[in-house]
Amino acid sequence: MAGIKEEWYKITKLKDYLYVLQENISIVHPVYTNDPLNLYLILGDHTAILIDTGCGLSPLKPLVEKLIRGRDLLIFNSHTHWDHVFGNGQFEEVYVHENEAFMVSRPYDLSFSKEIFGKCYASRNFLIPPAKTIKTLKDGDSFDLGKIKVKVIHAPGHSPGSICLLTTTGELFIGDVSYYGDIFLPRRRSFPIVLESISKLIRLCEINDKIELYPSHKKIPCDNTLLLDLYNGIKNIENLWENRKEHNFFNAWVIDDEKFRYYISRY
Ligand SMILES: [Zn+2]
Repeated sequence: MAGIKEEWYKITKLKDYLYVLQENISIVHPVYTNDPLNLYLILGDHTAILIDTGCGLSPLKPLVEKLIRGRDLLIFNSHTHWDHVFGNGQFEEVYVHENEAFMVSRPYDLSFSKEIFGKCYASRNFLIPPAKTIKTLKDGDSFDLGKIKVKVIHAPGHSPGSICLLTTTGELFIGDVSYYGDIFLPRRRSFPIVLESISKLIRLCEINDKIELYPSHKKIPCDNTLLLDLYNGIKNIENLWENRKEHNFFNAWVIDDEKFRYYISRY
């Protein structure tokens, strides 16, 4: 797409072994308000993990290769919503939770949502290529990067195959499970699944109060307060249910409280 340059990503070194690459998804359509999107790169001694591949609108692979300095590279998708996976086609192999592998095993066809994606993806014929190989993850899988180990935590709710990654250095990458922004939830009868996943993460943070949370959107890092705020907020939605408004674009109900805006699926 014309006008997209290398500065598309804002790259920040957060720690010796951790980078964040940020991009603004509102460029695709102003309805996407959760800027920035945070892609993370964890560097072990011999292996690196890139968490998510972003919107796919600007080359990501060359930037990542420069940062990893010869280490092996593993690519993970925190889940398969468009803003986390549209760069997958730049990479040979991508890991994703087994519940969502089918979503990224074939090209994404955007031809039915041209009014959303038209501005940015028309030049790609509305077809977003997948990675060549998809490898599946499940809860408890672990990866040794050299000095740093990473464990996969299945946290369904926002999507059926959402994963979080816990490092032995104390970072918990929580994808779209929680962040201080507009929160996308499944229909109300699936709220217990969402709450169970958030509780699981809260318990982890209570066992180890040094854990820092790194969400895929908005402000970073966060602490356990974020999870407690969202847990309490979702619990309270039933008390605010009368205030809900329709949102046709997302086919969702919208409810606001002091901390979050919730989009609740009507499917
Ligand atoms: Zn998402």
